[in-house]
Amino acid sequence: MKTLRICHLYGDLLNTYGDNGNLLILQWRAKKQGYHVETTLVSLDDTFNPEDFDVVFFGGGQDYEQKVVSKDIQHKKDSLTRYIEQDGVVVAICGGYQLLGHYYIGANGEKIEGISALDHYTLSQDNNRFIGDISIFDEQTGMTYAGYENHNGRTFLGENMKPLGTVQQGCGNNNEDNTEGARYKNVFCSYFHGPLLVRNIHLADYIIQLAIEQKEKRNH
Ligand code: GLN
Repeated sequence: MKTLRICHLYGDLLNTYGDNGNLLILQWRAKKQGYHVETTLVSLDDTFNPEDFDVVFFGGGQDYEQKVVSKDIQHKKDSLTRYIEQDGVVVAICGGYQLLGHYYIGANGEKIEGISALDHYTLSQDNNRFIGDISIFDEQTGMTYAGYENHNGRTFLGENMKPLGTVQQGCGNNNEDNTEGARYKNVFCSYFHGPLLVRNIHLADYIIQLAIEQKEKRNH
């Protein structure tokens, strides 16, 4: 039986609003498609080896946990960047999304460094959060996704970055430019909770298919 190897990045620290549900859906759908699934928690002081994984899941978090992760993830910056540049599949939500970019200015004004693997940055907002139902259209896949957002951060994408989708309802990245999340190579970033893949099984299946394709390419 073929194996799908999932990395749960900082899964013991980042799990807002049940983001770990994304992991359960990836496991369930992959098993249903006949794959044996292996999930490994990679957290503080662990080494991330890009060759060991077919999918990385990186959840959201409170500012405090993000600060803890921000320090540790600098040691994994090179290996995570290599994984991404080699077309590795990543699903990153909210706090995880913010940490893949340049930085996040937390709610109290403190700068929380990301790893700049992706070209985006995140500012805070005064006494406000973007909260509520959201739906977006993903031009690249032609699919629509539904979710629930709850974030302080206002994210702005660099010139070469594409959003995961355009906002049909809700605030998205910053409530200004109609973008939500980010898509870079095989990295899927989003502010969606709900969790994202629980409410959008079609996206989960798409991501698993991509991970399997990448795995097969590497093995040839
Ligand atoms: N702390 C970040 C923010 O408020 C991320 C929140 C989250 O992951 N839900 O923007």
